[in-house]
Parts: sequence; C-alpha cells; structure tokens
Amino acid sequence: MNRLVISHADVLSNQHCRPQRVLIVDDEPLLRASLKHLLDGCELEVFECENGCDAITTLETQNFDLVLLDIGLPDISGLEVMDWVVENKIHTSVIFVSADDNIDSAITALRKGAVEFVRKPNELPEIQYKVRNALYRRHLERCNALMTARLEQSEQLHRFLVENSPDLIYTLDDNARFTFINDRFETLLGYTREDLIGSQYSAIVHEDDVEKAVYAFAERRRDGRATANLEVRLKCKNNGYCHFENNLIVSMLSATAIYDDTAGGDLLSQKLYLGTYGVAHNITERKIAEETIAYQALHDQLTSLPNQRLFKDRLEMSIIHAKRCGRMVGVMFIDLDRFKVVNDTYGHAAGDELLKNVAFRLRLCMRAGDTLARKGGDEFTALLPDMMKPEDATIIAEKILNELSSPFNVADQDLHITASIGIAVLPRDGESVDTLLKNADIAMYKVKASGKNGYKYFIPDMNAANRERISLENDLRQAVRRDEFELYYQPQFSMSCNEIVGMEALIRWNHPIHGLLNPHTFIELAEETGLIGSITDWALGKACKQLSIWRDRGFNNLRMSVNVSPQEFERDDIVERILPHVTNNHLPADFLEIEITENILLRDTPSVISKMRSLREHGIRIAIDDFGTCYSSLNYLRMFPVSTIKIDQSFVRDLLHEQSASPIIQAIIGIARGYGLHLLAEGVESKEQANALMDVGCDEMQGFFFSKPLQTEAAGRLLHYTATSTPHISSQPGGSSGADLIHILESRDALLD
Ligand code: C2E
Ligand code: MG
Ligand code: MG
Repeated sequence: MNRLVISHADVLSNQHCRPQRVLIVDDEPLLRASLKHLLDGCELEVFECENGCDAITTLETQNFDLVLLDIGLPDISGLEVMDWVVENKIHTSVIFVSADDNIDSAITALRKGAVEFVRKPNELPEIQYKVRNALYRRHLERCNALMTARLEQSEQLHRFLVENSPDLIYTLDDNARFTFINDRFETLLGYTREDLIGSQYSAIVHEDDVEKAVYAFAERRRDGRATANLEVRLKCKNNGYCHFENNLIVSMLSATAIYDDTAGGDLLSQKLYLGTYGVAHNITERKIAEETIAYQALHDQLTSLPNQRLFKDRLEMSIIHAKRCGRMVGVMFIDLDRFKVVNDTYGHAAGDELLKNVAFRLRLCMRAGDTLARKGGDEFTALLPDMMKPEDATIIAEKILNELSSPFNVADQDLHITASIGIAVLPRDGESVDTLLKNADIAMYKVKASGKNGYKYFIPDMNAANRERISLENDLRQAVRRDEFELYYQPQFSMSCNEIVGMEALIRWNHPIHGLLNPHTFIELAEETGLIGSITDWALGKACKQLSIWRDRGFNNLRMSVNVSPQEFERDDIVERILPHVTNNHLPADFLEIEITENILLRDTPSVISKMRSLREHGIRIAIDDFGTCYSSLNYLRMFPVSTIKIDQSFVRDLLHEQSASPIIQAIIGIARGYGLHLLAEGVESKEQANALMDVGCDEMQGFFFSKPLQTEAAGRLLHYTATSTPHISSQPGGSSGADLIHILESRDALLD
C-alpha cells in the first residue's frame, strides 16, 4: 500500500495572509531610522539589526520576506551575510543598500542573489518603490510555490486514490488503446503496464462481450449520457491466474469521454476528442452469489435436480406450447417403494446417498428436453414434453423400472429399491399443472395399491376411488378414538387333542356408514398412513386382555395369535410395545403368538431379525402367516427365529381338486419337521380337506369348516362347548383322532347362530 505524504503547502497557505516582514540590517541608526520612515505606510512589519552576526541570528529564527542589507557592516560584510542566506536556503528576498558606488559591488551583490542594489544616500528615495516591487515579486513567488505545492499534493492524492482503488481504472486514447492503467489491473487480472499500454481494450474483453463493450470503450459521451453499469466479462492474463471460473471476472463498467476543453466551441462535436476514461468494478463474487441463490431457489440441494417450483414453471410453459402445437405432454409421478425402510434401518446418511444414486439413474432414463425434478422425500416428478401419443411415456417408465432393478451399493450394502410410477397425459387427463400432477399422483397410488414396482396411466375411475380413499383415511384417523374396531376370534383346532388350542384375533371395523369392514379394506391404508401403529397397539391390548379372561375361566392352554404388520418390525420400539401387554395381563409369554406375513422373510435386515429374536427370548411365539405365498427361500426361514408356520389357504383350497395332498403342502410339512417348527393349516373349509391334511400329518387347523371368525361372546361359547363335548385323546387313549371333533362340529351350528 502506498503511503500518502502531505506536503508543506498547508504551512505555506497559513502564512499567506500575514503582513509582510522586512529586516533592516545597517550599523548606522540614522539610516535605519530613515529607512524605517520611508517604509511607513506600506503595511509592513519592520525589524532592525545593527551588524551581520545579529542579522544571521535573527534570520536563523524568524522568517522575513525582505532584508535590506548594508554591505559595509562592522563585523562581517553584507556580502558574507548574503552568502550565508544562500547557503542556508533562507527564503527571503535581499536588497543591498550600500554607500559603495562601485559598480562591481553592485554586480557582486546581484550575482549572489540580491534582487536590487540601492545606493545610499542618493537612491534612498527610490527605496519605497523598490521594496514594493521586491515584495510584490516575493508575493508572486510565494503564491506560485503554494500553487505548485497544492498541485503536487492533489496529484499525489489522486494517484494514491487511483492506484489503491479496488476498481480497475484506465484511460484510452482516441483509438481505444490503453494510455493508463492502475495497479489493480495487475493484482486482479495479472496485466502489467507493459502488457497493456498501447494495446486495444479488446485484448482484455471476453470475445462474446466485445460487441457489447465497443461503445463503452470508445465512449464519446459525457455526464448522464455516458456508459454506466455495463456488465462486461474481462479476461485474466494467463490461464489459471485468476481463481474465478473460466479465468474471467465479471465487471461493472462505467466510462466517460475526455475532450480538450480548451479548444473548439461549446458543443462536444466541436471539441477535440482525446479518449475515454473508465472504471470497472469487479462484481464476480456478487454474480456467483446471485447465481448460487437463484440456483438454490430452483433446485433440490441433495440431488441438484430441479425442484417443484422450477418443475411447475417448466410444465406450465410446456402446456402452453403443447396446446398451441396440438402436442401431448406427459407428467410422471415417481415414488420409491419402501424407501422408509432404508432410512430407518441404515440411517439418513445412507438414505440420502441412495436418493442421490436413484436421481442419477432416473436422469439417465430421460430424453433430452425432459425434466426430472425432486418433489421431496422419495418422490420425483418427470415432465415429458412433446409426446406424439400417450404411450410414449411407457418406454420411459419401463426404462426407469429396469434401471432401478439392479441393486444400489450404499453403506456397504446392496440395496434393492423399486418405484411406483403414475402417469397423466395432457390433454386427456387434465389441462392444468395441478390437475396433471394430481392425476399422476392418483395413478401412482393405484400402483402402490396393486403391489408397487410398476406404472399405470391415470384413468378417470381412479379419481372416484381416490376420493373414497381420502375419505376412508379421514375416517380411519378417528376410528381408534371412537372405538370403532372390534376383534373377532377364529379358533385353531388340534386334531390329535380334539380341542381348541388357539384363537386368532382378526380385526373388524364397524364403520358408521359402510358397516362392518374386513381388514383388507383398511389395513394397507393404515400401513401407508402410519395409523397401523395405534391399531396394532389396540389389537394387542384387546387380544391379551381377552386371553387373560379366558384363562381365568379355565382355558389355561389356549394360545392367542395376533396379526402384526411386517411394517411394524421396521420400527425400533415394536418389542417394547408388545411386552407390556403380556406382563400387564399376567400371561405366560409362550401363549402369545405374533403372526407376521411371509414377506417379512424378504426383509432380511439384521434389525428385523434382532427384534424377532428379542421377542423369542422373552418367550413370545412367532408364526409366519400365509406361508408358501412369497416363495421365500428356505435359507431365509433358517435365519429367522420362527416358532410356527401357517400353510396358506390357497394350498389348502387346492386340496379339493386333488386326490392327495399337493406336493407343496408335503414340502412345507417336511420343512416344518426339518426345522422343528410348529405347523398349522389355515383356510380349511371342508371335511375332505381336514382329512387330507390329517393324512399328511398336519395336526393343527383353522378354517370355516371348524368355525368362522366369531365375536367375543360366541367365541367364548364355542370354547366352552368344544371343551365339554369333545372327548380328549388324553382321556381316551386310542380315540379316533379328529373324527369325533368333526362329528361334534357338524352339530355345533345351532349353538353359534
Ligand atoms: P390372515 O391372518 O391370514 O387371516 C386369515 C384370514 O382368512 C381371515 O380373513 C379369515 O377370516 C380368513 N379365513 C379363515 N378361514 C377361512 C376359510 O376357511 N376360507 C376362507 N376363504 N377364508 C378364511 P380376515 O379376517 O379378513 O383377515 C384378512 C387378513 O387381514 C389376515 O389374514 C391378516 O393378515 C390381516 N389382519 C387381520 N386382523 C389383523 C390385525 O389385527 N392386524 C393386522 N396387521 N392384520 C390383520
Ligand atoms: Mg393371521
Ligand atoms: Mg393367513
């Protein structure tokens, strides 16, 4: 940084207004008096000295504008005093006053720097005139010195300001060549004066901006009409010199013309154009910040995809364009299936990583001109403009499903993820941004409802279904609070013991308008909306309480099976939520069985297994429901701490059409035996099926043949009736296993109606 030096101009200017001071040096008092007298009326301050040494001492300490100096002094000569004055650079004018009329003395005195030579006594009358002249000259000299000093100071100040300016400051000649650049050109752009002086301005302007900048750099206007705030990109000297992108800075340029104001007429056109003066302010960082803010306002930070604001804006434009050209526009709603599991199991960092990878793959499926956006969470939307026919979106949807089918390696795991895609097409499915998005969303929900991992086009019927779904969801939120749920109990029979060994609690919803609703109408909705948690808690509480009541009535060997949604095992607290029901109702833990559908086996995450294991360690039984429907491998079964498998009713149904038990049932029975698992067949509807199952060694059964799910009262009565009517194997050794039970059951209907 340069240092600003203030000159002594200020000191000079302070002295400017005082009366002028004159020193008379003469050994003759009379002469001093007459000189003084002669100078009266000149508004001067007059001082006296009677010898040379005295004069030197006085001049050393005080300032005088004029010294009237006698040559012949008693101690040293006036000429010596003059020498001293010159030597010591004393700022004063000197007039010699001498009686010596030798011309040489006068010449010597003038050579030494005196301004005048006056002979005494003859020329004394002229002294007043000569003093005035000398003092006037002295005054002019002082003014000149003052002006020069001020100019120097001003020049220094301006140079300081220009060189230390954070802006680029330059002048160009009338051919737009640099004549001056400040130091900032070097610190900001890397150009020295040698690099640029004499070069055209275009040497530093980005090629694409030269045309725009030409008027600014050859600016011929001044004042308000001159170029101001023009954005121009300037090139840095060497690649890599500047830390901004592309080695460019963005500058805000203001330029004004320079004319020779001393020549020509009043109009600019009549004046001599000298060149241009300009200032360029570096706004690169501000531009970058502005661009970043604008980018962030329209993009998703995690995936860098356009956000919904940008998406809707583009969709709006596409709709306008498509309507004008009679084209179609496709809108896709893409929702990842079971993404929450990943988040809950592996943490949010892994979830974010997966989302980024998914976004990357989805982008690969888009055509040029399509827009993929993130809606939030695991939801994406895609805009497919310029479609020729609605089915054009099929290709992209299939590409997406295919692209997602290979696993994602995240958090050192191979994660499988699928997506449900809903598609709406303009103009068929709506003409506005909101309608198209809403209908694509509805279609996506349909995919979710029918097994996920697929795509569907919107059809108007879905709308009604969706409205129904929304209203059902609202009702469901109230249902627990309004106590609208009820548990039915379906007995599970042991053929060898001829008795009811268990009850499966099956939920029903007494809907105020729709009447009694079966679980298939609302369980999935409850799972999707998260309401399943409170339903599970309610069902567990109710079933355990009922078991405790029946135990109090003497049914001490009765098991209670409660269905728990697999999704619940993705929550951390499931074990803590189940255990209190057992302890609060004083139940032996192994009389509670949690039924989980077979697809739990496909979620072979360590955390699901550990929760199941924890339940087992507490003694609670775990049954795999609907076993055989998911084709889960035996290997899975081996890893899970399962106590019971329930053969799905679809296999039991097949028994009707076949002479002997199907190979699948035989295989399942083999597996159960192999792993030492408890076995139960569900959906047994006929005597023939029951017999066939008994033939292959399946002892426990559940189904309409034995009993439909019953309300609490009826279930209690059946328990009692069966206990008192069926002969127990234990009490009748060699009794016909199952046959008596079947016989009794055939006559129970009167009891249950
Ligand atoms: P699930 O656990 O496999 O229950 C057996 C289903 O088959 C019951 O249907 C039952 O009424 C029916 N069923 C029983 N015997 C026969 C038969 O002989 N023939 C035929 N065709 N069907 C029979 P439901 O009560 O409609 O329950 C359906 C499913 O809803 C259950 O299948 C279970 O997965 C689920 N569910 C029931 N209650 C709950 C609950 O409280 N929580 C959860 N998360 N799910 C439940
Ligand atoms: Mg079940
Ligand atoms: Mg089942």
